Amino acid sequence: MTDAQTAPTTHDVVIIGSGPAGLTAAVYAARANLEPLVIEGLVVGGPTGGQLTLTTDVENYPGFPEGIMGPQLIMDMRAQAARFGTQFITADVRKIDTTTRPFRIETDTSVEVYANTLILATGAKPRRLDIPGEDELWGAGVSACATCDGFFYRDKTVVVVGGGDTAMEEATFLTKFASKVIVVHRRGELRASKIMQERAFKNEKVEFIWNATASKVLGTNGVVSGVELTDTVTGEVSEIATDGFFLAIGHIPNTDLVADVADIDEEGYLLLQEPTTQTNVPGLFGAGDLADHVYRQAITAAASGCKAAIDAERFLAAME
Ligand code: NAP
Repeated sequence: MTDAQTAPTTHDVVIIGSGPAGLTAAVYAARANLEPLVIEGLVVGGPTGGQLTLTTDVENYPGFPEGIMGPQLIMDMRAQAARFGTQFITADVRKIDTTTRPFRIETDTSVEVYANTLILATGAKPRRLDIPGEDELWGAGVSACATCDGFFYRDKTVVVVGGGDTAMEEATFLTKFASKVIVVHRRGELRASKIMQERAFKNEKVEFIWNATASKVLGTNGVVSGVELTDTVTGEVSEIATDGFFLAIGHIPNTDLVADVADIDEEGYLLLQEPTTQTNVPGLFGAGDLADHVYRQAITAAASGCKAAIDAERFLAAME
């Protein structure tokens, strides 16, 4: 247990979240001598270190020509933040009170934290189907990120579940590698924008199975080998063979903690006063996937963490 885990103190910068957005904010705030405190979550909203800790090779993060493992990238970012004096608490945040100054943050330990500025970098979690096989085969053929994992499906068959823009984008992207991409959608028409639909319809490698939900992910020797489908009209159950199973049924931004005070859009994403990372609550900043339903990449999350730290620094300077 670090000092930060026992002593209730006021910090100039508190960062909630330990993915690339939170840790980059920590690096920048620490190097500005703001002695940030990172509250790295435990289970609520995803694992400590965020979604990158659930991936394997990260090949699109600049600076690593041979690629780097997702968990290693996070460990390196954390070490870099610690090197410049960042303190860490490993706990889930229960409540944030922004009606007081400094802000009061309650964790699920007995520790209370006070913050002059708060950077929320709690990310988003991919929506899951909660069907048998999904958890067990996660990372062994089940994925929610075609950009991260598509490369591993060269000349293979993959299934994409969903009918929105993400599903069309992921299906089209996966055809760069896979020999066949089967989109499974629960209705007879797509939710995706016309242009994304047309792009997918035109692609000869993309097939559609309509009015069906995936009801079970099937595995052989610990890797995905097929999917059980249930027809949403007739209830008929069938099986198809596949090497990969991609979920593209939307993301859930982790904005619950500030939902009653901060402006969020109809999908739950935190609204920022762009191009800054300031929210409608002065001194509360947002970085990473919780405010981004367009890019959702490690590098864009890191970039917004950098912006949030600079915004917090300027806010503190104006307070003096
Ligand atoms: P979305 O628009 O909410 O679509 C989610 C899809 O998943 C829907 O087709 C939905 O089916 C399906 N779905 C949800 N829960 C399901 C379940 N339990 N079982 C089976 N299917 C389920 O999410 P999204 O595609 O991630 O897009 C999110 C936002 O980002 C949208 O505003 C989108 O336009 C935007 N986006 C834009 C781009 C782009 O412009 N390049 C790319 C990606 C995303 P139903 O249709 O039946 O509800």
